[in-house]
Amino acid sequence: MHLHNTLTGRKERFEPQDPSRVTMYVCGPTVYSFAHIGNARPAVVFDVLSRVLRRRYGSVVYARNITDIDDKINKAAAEQGVDIGVISDRYAAAYHEDMGALGVRAPDHEPRVTQHLPQILDMIGRLVASGHAYAAEGHVLFHTPSFSDYGKLSKRDSQALMAGARVEVAPYKQHAGDFVLWKPSAPEQPGWGSPWGRGRPGWHIECSAMAETILGETIDIHGGGHDLIFPHHENEIAQSVCAHGGKPFARFWLHNGFLNVDSTKMSKSLGNVLLVRELLKHAPGEAIRMLLLSGHYRQPLDWTEDGLQEARKKLDRLYGALRELADVEENPDEGEFLPFVQELEDDLNTPGALAQLFELATQAHKAGDTVSERRRIKTQLLKAGRLLGLLHQSPEAWFGWAPPRDDLMPATEIEALIAQRAEARKSRQWAESDRIRDLLKARGVLVEDSKDGQRWRYS
Ligand code: AMP
Ligand code: ZN
Repeated sequence: MHLHNTLTGRKERFEPQDPSRVTMYVCGPTVYSFAHIGNARPAVVFDVLSRVLRRRYGSVVYARNITDIDDKINKAAAEQGVDIGVISDRYAAAYHEDMGALGVRAPDHEPRVTQHLPQILDMIGRLVASGHAYAAEGHVLFHTPSFSDYGKLSKRDSQALMAGARVEVAPYKQHAGDFVLWKPSAPEQPGWGSPWGRGRPGWHIECSAMAETILGETIDIHGGGHDLIFPHHENEIAQSVCAHGGKPFARFWLHNGFLNVDSTKMSKSLGNVLLVRELLKHAPGEAIRMLLLSGHYRQPLDWTEDGLQEARKKLDRLYGALRELADVEENPDEGEFLPFVQELEDDLNTPGALAQLFELATQAHKAGDTVSERRRIKTQLLKAGRLLGLLHQSPEAWFGWAPPRDDLMPATEIEALIAQRAEARKSRQWAESDRIRDLLKARGVLVEDSKDGQRWRYS
């Protein structure tokens, strides 16, 4: 298996340090609002990677945290006059619901920062004791010049980093690049007791402490969005390596590219932030997942309405093939479609893997009546689908998806119109046939003429 490692800037052969326990940590959401489609990208990408690793190695320990201590959470809680736990529980539950709808499996561990204060304080204590961090005015700061590899992941020269620092340097910092491990909380702010006074942890130390607690000192894979390379992941490395006497932190660093909407960066000020739960009102979760997987994870991905419709059509093709194979059973002795697996093991090439899946679907059309061949194709389609987290429903359920809308035309009414249209076609009243089809289309129902008659689905 090969993976692109941000640390070396190259695609490398991946071998776990212990094949009986592959370890992966991915930075999870800060739970102060609903997840947008950009947040869903790392969740889906690393879900697929965990499946591919599990297929090859069996035992994988995948941890994806929940950041439930954060100033944005504090702000939301203060505005609503509730405890921060109310905000973080609400949005963590929403995150689980939304990711579940996209077929994202729960990770093996989902550590929360509020449950790891002792481990965080312990790690900060070790960094202070070893001279990598210092206390100043209620803060504890990591001293970046104490770590010679600082800047290696993001390929930034630490001097240039300092020269480029635009932010006003706080007077208690010994060096402009030093970053916060612990900061004081005002009496009205959430805070926890520490040897340095009442306060709260910085963002970076959480991940280092939780990864250490759950996965150990050196982990196989660390993932997250491209935006996290600097400063978050650079700082995680500095903390963990220095707390572990110089041992490497993550052997492979993987970063997903950003998702843009109609070629524009998603931002609140532009009003183009697409929430997963809003999208789920217009499209099946599986189509959203398909679109997220149709580009290579390292490339930027452009989200468009056309792309979403395209993703639905791709799934129509795959489920159409499964519908044609409805009369044969899966064959438990059948192997996987290897060209498909090879694409995924080549730096998680999901577009390449999908191309192989469509090739299988084409074979289904050509298989004729050969039962063994049809069983092979069905088995391989479903096995491949499971690796991508697709094709988990019946073709009937896929084609029967209905948007959660009040003005939905009931199926009985649609069936009646379709029968009328069949009559019209029989008597060659093409205009009437088109009229009915357009009427249905206007009500969000797509009709397709197939060799087995008319098929319809909600659009
Ligand atoms: P946050 O909750 O902001 O900490 O983000 C959670 C995850 O979503 C991180 O791994 C981010 O890198 C990722 N992320 C945020 N916005 C986008 C985006 N537009 N495209 C891809 N990934 C994103
Ligand atoms: Zn992190």
